[in-house]
Amino acid sequence: MTEKTKIENIEITNPNKILFPNSGTRKIDVVKYYQKISPLMLPFLDRRLLSVVRCHENINGEKFFKKHPTTEKAFVKSVFVDEDEYFYITNMRELVFQAQMGTLEFHTWASKVSSLDRPDTMVFDLDPSEDVTLGKLREGVLLLKGVLDGLKLNSYLKTSGGKGYHIVVPFSKRKDWEFFGQFSKDIALLLEAKHKDFFTSNIRKDQRHGKIFVDYLRNKKGATCVAPYSLRARENAPISFPISWQDLGKISPNEINISNFENFLTKQSPWVDFHGQNRNKI
Ligand code: ATP
Ligand code: MN
Repeated sequence: MTEKTKIENIEITNPNKILFPNSGTRKIDVVKYYQKISPLMLPFLDRRLLSVVRCHENINGEKFFKKHPTTEKAFVKSVFVDEDEYFYITNMRELVFQAQMGTLEFHTWASKVSSLDRPDTMVFDLDPSEDVTLGKLREGVLLLKGVLDGLKLNSYLKTSGGKGYHIVVPFSKRKDWEFFGQFSKDIALLLEAKHKDFFTSNIRKDQRHGKIFVDYLRNKKGATCVAPYSLRARENAPISFPISWQDLGKISPNEINISNFENFLTKQSPWVDFHGQNRNKI
């Protein structure tokens, strides 16, 4: 008999299926993680169109992005954008349902469905080439923060769960995609011009030796970035986790994972004012 269990009144099939062979992390561990983290995570998913990552067997096998709701409409909300249907979720049950369907990663748009053409969350994804040390990467993160501070822009830091860090700049919604994208590009080019030894905006991997690629291309319509608190479909189930600027030197990009994240939860989230009045105006 196949095992079954219910979480949030949703039947979890194959709860003991191992999704992360390296750490032995099972499907039920993933479901329980998302149930537990939902109060912190849901504000970042709120009315944002999703692209989710699932895998067929386990993370060592085939993975795929899912952007369109197909047979799952009872547990998602959906909208049409330029003739294609996209989906989003708004509560714990829908989050648990995603995990039941095999979703491991959640990636979100930079705008919300209530004003899809007014993006409000700018992301700079710092991708170190292989020969960049963690120390240099961290210096690079601080150089970007310095440029943002110089522009009087409040910014927030999270681990990617992979090789880099993501710097997130929240805005009150004012401008369109074109302005938003161009503004992020101007910042990336300014950063590169100021610190040529550190950064490159060259998309070609073979030309990035010793440098950090500043990926500002998440800031256009339809592009996504992995959401705060999302797991990553990589060895040990790391998490893209919000951290404080003070902890940059202490926490490496893939350090926080499904087994240890509780040690990194602080009384007050380092992103506590992210959704509040401190959003930048442009
Ligand atoms: P790392 O630190 O290892 O680079 P990352 O999440 O930044 O982790 P990237 O490969 O740099 O991974 O990708 C940046 C973002 O681009 C991802 O978080 C994801 O949202 C988006 N992305 C990448 N590939 C795809 C894809 N095939 N479809 C949709 N979105 C994608
Ligand atoms: Mn990256």
